[in-house]
Amino acid sequence: MISRIDLRGTPGDPRDLLPRAELDIEAATEKVRPICDDVRHRGVEALIDLTERFDGVRLADIRVPRAAIDSALAELDPAVRAGLEESIRRARKVHADQRRSDTVTHVVPGGTVTERWVPVGRVGLYVPGGRAVYPSSVVMNVVPAQEAGAGSLAVASPPQADFGGLPHPTVLAACALLGIDEVYAVGGAQAVAMFAYGAGECARADMVTGPGNIWVAAAKRLLKGVIGIDAEAGPTEIAILADDTADAGYVAADLISQAEHDVIAASVLVTPSVALAERVEAELADRVPATKHSERVAAALGGRQSGIVLVDDLDHGLAVVDAYAAEHLEVMTADASAVAARVRNAGAVFVGDFAPVSLGDYCAGSNHVLPTGGSAHHSSGLSVQTFLRGIHVVEYDRAALAEVAPSVVALAEAEDLPAHGEAVSARVGRTGGEGTAR
Ligand code: NAD
Repeated sequence: MISRIDLRGTPGDPRDLLPRAELDIEAATEKVRPICDDVRHRGVEALIDLTERFDGVRLADIRVPRAAIDSALAELDPAVRAGLEESIRRARKVHADQRRSDTVTHVVPGGTVTERWVPVGRVGLYVPGGRAVYPSSVVMNVVPAQEAGAGSLAVASPPQADFGGLPHPTVLAACALLGIDEVYAVGGAQAVAMFAYGAGECARADMVTGPGNIWVAAAKRLLKGVIGIDAEAGPTEIAILADDTADAGYVAADLISQAEHDVIAASVLVTPSVALAERVEAELADRVPATKHSERVAAALGGRQSGIVLVDDLDHGLAVVDAYAAEHLEVMTADASAVAARVRNAGAVFVGDFAPVSLGDYCAGSNHVLPTGGSAHHSSGLSVQTFLRGIHVVEYDRAALAEVAPSVVALAEAEDLPAHGEAVSARVGRTGGEGTAR
């Protein structure tokens, strides 16, 4: 069911040897271009037509009425409500600690640079809803944006034919719990375009965040620049670094839980222990047929993006998981904290037997919108920082400018930009003395 990849005795960069899903976002970008152009030129009319075409629902209005948001909360199952409230409480606690304060650096007497952290003005949050429903993504997008102090927040999520053309009621209830009342029943690339260009009641946003399928990712790539984006979330993935001490049942359960997302989800075990590999294979053979979404899970585990990777030892395993740079990395080894501390590349690291990825999906307090497809080599998951911009505020007095004038002039001349130097010497003279202007 799950293939083995034997990297023992294969030193060097294993990146090309590791399993990974391929997603042709470039091709999808060409397909979403006319969708985005249509929204740009025809606004709400285009959104209504595109929603009918892709979601099978003809909307009277794209904006979800306040009453529908309130009644979704009133009718929410109490256990789900309690779960969402716990998720929000813990996420708020962690994200509140991420807030940054301004830093003032006294570079020289009379010369300071302040880094001021300023929240983004308006944020559009995309909550997927094509094949599954993700109220947890509402929490993971909204909480950091709110903790950053973003000026206004609007949510877009696809309309559901089964729910009268509204987004899924649990998504609406999560919005209500978070105090969000600007919600649009719009999905896919057209939702990203709505935020980028504005349409009807939806004012254009400065930034769009949130996971989604290939059409959402392609629209983000296409419109990046018109609007700020967080990341193009690709298919979800787990890597587990485990040794002989790991519980094969836990390892198998976590590989399956990731595979449950999608047939192109990736589940990768990296281990130096052939005995563990065999135990995990046996556990998978027992558990996969019994799990609710067994067909999807079997397809994901059997896909070329998943596998059990055999390595020489834990050092080699660490090199392999660093090269893979998983969205989610679990470490289930002896002295797991010490091993996890050596990890360089991962979206989030889950340490030991009692921190499975599904805890992080909902209730650890950490964010579940994480870099996929190896982008953890250079990017982080969603956080308060995503919604802040650091503005450098430069203040120099005359003496401080005069002191550094010769350096500025020399560098400006080296770049053949003499007017740059003249802007300084106009104030303090070429040698740092009095300028001619004032
Ligand atoms: P989605 O909301 O991303 O996409 C649904 C929309 O796609 C529809 O509203 C429709 O407008 C559009 N669409 C469908 N077919 C189209 C076509 N042929 N051309 C153009 N547009 C089309 O929902 P989804 O499809 O269920 O995908 C959700 C994705 O988000 C999954 O891959 C899931 O794994 C991922 N996800 C990731 C995270 C994370 O944190 N990384 C969290 C939740 C979900």
